[in-house]
Amino acid sequence: MIADRRRLAVTVRGTVQGVGFRPFVYRLARAHKLSGWVRNSTGPVEIEVEGGEPELDGFLRELEAEAPPLAHVRTVDSSPIPLAGDTDFMIQQSRHRQDDFQPVAPDAATCEDCLKELFDPRDRRFRYPFINCTNCGPRFTVIEALPYDRPNTTMRHFTMCRDCQREYEDPLDRRFHAQPNACWACGPRLSISLEEAVAALQGGLVLALKGLGGYQLACDARSKSAVARLRQRKRRPSKPFAVMTTEPVASAEEWTALRSAARPVVLLGAQPGLAEGVAPGLAEHGVMLPYTPLHHLLMAEFGGPLVMTSGNLSEEPICRDDSEARERLGAIADVFLAHDRPIAARYDDSVVRVCGGATRVIRRARGLAPAPIELPLAPPLVATGAHLKATFTVARDGQAFVGPHVGDLDDLLTVRSYQESLAAYERMFHVLPTRVACDLHPDYASTRIAEGLAGEGEPLRVQHHHAHVASVIAEHGLHGATAGVALDGVGLGHDGTVWGGEILVCEGSLCRRVAHLEPVPLPGGDLCAREGWRMAAAYGLSEAPAGVDPARFEVIRRLAGSGQAPLTSSMGRFFDAVASLLGVCQVSTYEGEAAALLEAAADPGVTELIEVGLAENRRLFAALSSRRGEPVSRLAAVFHNSLVHAVVEACRATGIRQVALSGGCFQNRRLLESCLEALLAAGLRPYANEQVPANDGGLSLGQAWVASCV
Ligand code: ZN
Ligand code: ZN
Ligand code: FE
Repeated sequence: MIADRRRLAVTVRGTVQGVGFRPFVYRLARAHKLSGWVRNSTGPVEIEVEGGEPELDGFLRELEAEAPPLAHVRTVDSSPIPLAGDTDFMIQQSRHRQDDFQPVAPDAATCEDCLKELFDPRDRRFRYPFINCTNCGPRFTVIEALPYDRPNTTMRHFTMCRDCQREYEDPLDRRFHAQPNACWACGPRLSISLEEAVAALQGGLVLALKGLGGYQLACDARSKSAVARLRQRKRRPSKPFAVMTTEPVASAEEWTALRSAARPVVLLGAQPGLAEGVAPGLAEHGVMLPYTPLHHLLMAEFGGPLVMTSGNLSEEPICRDDSEARERLGAIADVFLAHDRPIAARYDDSVVRVCGGATRVIRRARGLAPAPIELPLAPPLVATGAHLKATFTVARDGQAFVGPHVGDLDDLLTVRSYQESLAAYERMFHVLPTRVACDLHPDYASTRIAEGLAGEGEPLRVQHHHAHVASVIAEHGLHGATAGVALDGVGLGHDGTVWGGEILVCEGSLCRRVAHLEPVPLPGGDLCAREGWRMAAAYGLSEAPAGVDPARFEVIRRLAGSGQAPLTSSMGRFFDAVASLLGVCQVSTYEGEAAALLEAAADPGVTELIEVGLAENRRLFAALSSRRGEPVSRLAAVFHNSLVHAVVEACRATGIRQVALSGGCFQNRRLLESCLEALLAAGLRPYANEQVPANDGGLSLGQAWVASCV
């Protein structure tokens, strides 16, 4: 008998903690009549199994194939070891391994099983706002240290009652080792009753709601006055608000994105029944389904769509601590719906869009970060991103962990939040960087942070648009020469001018600029991104557009012609100029507003284009200018079509088939979809961002990729 028994030591790497992996291994081993044990470590999940050859084979096969829904198995290694002769299979204590690390599952939306219990009057967790199990619930927003065990989470403040403890210890229970397990008797509680919160919302008031990764602000999305009140108090005049609803109008692909465990905000076509002020002037609404039990209860009681936006003032980081929230949101919210489960880390809602045949991330945060992205050969490194929509990336052992969106590094609060989050990632994944990468711009806060991390050494300074293109190369694992199309706001170029409409040829860590928009003056520097009419002046518009003070316009027109203003080849600023020319937008109140409005204005049915090269941006502007008086919807469409044509011709001219599209302008659905289509039709192979944003939120991944190639 003993002769055909074998014992294997098995290590499983991947996202295998906090996803019910050990109980799964336990059940699997028992089903195959194997003895041995399984345990978590700060590194891989470690298993020893002993039994007959066919049983061991079956076990190994199903270990990957049958893994729980939130698990992602990356590698399974097994090697024979001496028999131990044990008779049972056990789950052992977690073990701390020096210097190893473990990907952590991101937070996951309440699962179907928990939902059933939540609304079942006979269940002991009926209407309990913190119900969860190993297949759902908070993860990274409650984890303070690894390994993922209850004492390392903010749930350590709550001692499980006997019923919860029994579930926690029963390997056949759905809550076996579910670290945030809790119930009415032992778990977190709300600060006020749900009824009070719902009454406030019904009365048109603003509710501050303690969510998973921070506070959210909610109000009735159908009420014009409630939305207006929130806008005014939050000092956010027109940037679109996300909406939480149980009945979105969406395509099958969009429903898949809406229902995914990350439950992101999905940008959908305009939804019926919402107040105009939710997304002024735009043809899209950002929509999400409820993703916590508290959301489900709130939505069921309220019975309609709610604006659900980050709990912050303007561009500050999302509020996390209760006292911080009371202080900073006190003047915005009428009522606070809080609870006593602390939030370990800030995670805003993620934003995605289904576009050009893929789900593309626009903001990567809750539910998506820190799921790893594979990089070929990544030594331990840190990349610090840019200035707007800053994210960092830490990488080691061929895996990159892109940190969550924290916002623009303009104010001290955001910089602090970024640093706090970066330190947590370095600690959690045991990254002692041997390389540090940052943007070429010397004045970004992220550059200074990188200089600090590099200590005696120098960080690798990666040109902004090179990093954009590299983010696509990294995501898709592209090899060899790539033609990069970076259509973007602004980034410092190798020649000291401001770039942003570039064709680059990238290979390994090298990058060559082969074509670009003709540089135009940037009269007023950064102010041009806000006051788009300045760019119209730079492009040669001779008279002030309606709504712009003629005297100021004249001053800026002279400045543009003086040779004193810096120069830019930015595509984002070209959009601003055309939006101003066509009277679509003169002043943007949020980044990219003019471009978003210009996209929304463009008639989808118009196919006409003006044949210009990429460097003939001035000619295109003049041509559109001479046709003023024609419908704006037509001219806006002609502008988009002409750009697509210019991009395809510029790519063709490189002689390289593999094309990477990135940069903030590719958040424009029409531009991205038309470019992908036209490049394919031209026989080229286009790629664009999916897992990380095309905007500066994806930049740190590109920097990390370049640094790993050096
Ligand atoms: Zn569940
Ligand atoms: Zn309990
Ligand atoms: Fe950029």
